[in-house]
Amino acid sequence: MGKAVFFDIDDTLYDTSGFAKLARKAALSAMIDAGLPLSNEEAYSLLRSVIKEKGSNYNKHFNVLTQRVFGEENPYLIALGMITYHNVKFALLRLFPDTMSTLIHVKKQGYHLGVISNGLVIKQWEKLIRLDLHHFFDAVVTSEEAGCEKPEPEIFNLALRRMGCRADKSLMIGNKFSEDILGALNVGMSAILVNSRLTTEEEDYLRMKNLKIDVASNIGLIQEIL
Ligand SMILES: [Mg+2]
Repeated sequence: MGKAVFFDIDDTLYDTSGFAKLARKAALSAMIDAGLPLSNEEAYSLLRSVIKEKGSNYNKHFNVLTQRVFGEENPYLIALGMITYHNVKFALLRLFPDTMSTLIHVKKQGYHLGVISNGLVIKQWEKLIRLDLHHFFDAVVTSEEAGCEKPEPEIFNLALRRMGCRADKSLMIGNKFSEDILGALNVGMSAILVNSRLTTEEEDYLRMKNLKIDVASNIGLIQEIL
């Protein structure tokens, strides 16, 4: 049985901040130019309420938005919005500067690399492929396939089974303490919190449970830990 390092995707391998917002605004602006009878502010606030209501992984936000505005869906505006959204989003999709060198470093240390991500399977593969990272990973496990999200133990155990690795020889790297770190520790894996820092409550919790994790304020610093 080999040793494995599992990575989260969003805000661990690449920076999501601002990019969805810019893509949404660009999409709405194209729809407004093509006849959506709202101001930029009205359109953005309506879209935000639709996203809040349906969740960010729902894939028909623009259908609902045009339905609300016109009383029926407007296929032309929906398609225009979706295409603009995707074009802008993928134009802005960039790795953190040290992601690639870190993955190469970890692989050279003899680890198998995998992904454990809360998200839709095709959407997450699409990001890995567009970021040119897909060749690094032996297993990619999403919550959609696992039927549950991090921090549920099942998703971590599914990833370990697929990789053929033991929990006590494996490590999870992610930016969310409550999902990535606690989930990994609960199944007996080690963990590194990346692009984030521990709050006082989280530090207290770890001390109380006698648990220890590493923290890397950016992904490049993992090369000093592993
Ligand atoms: Mg994340």
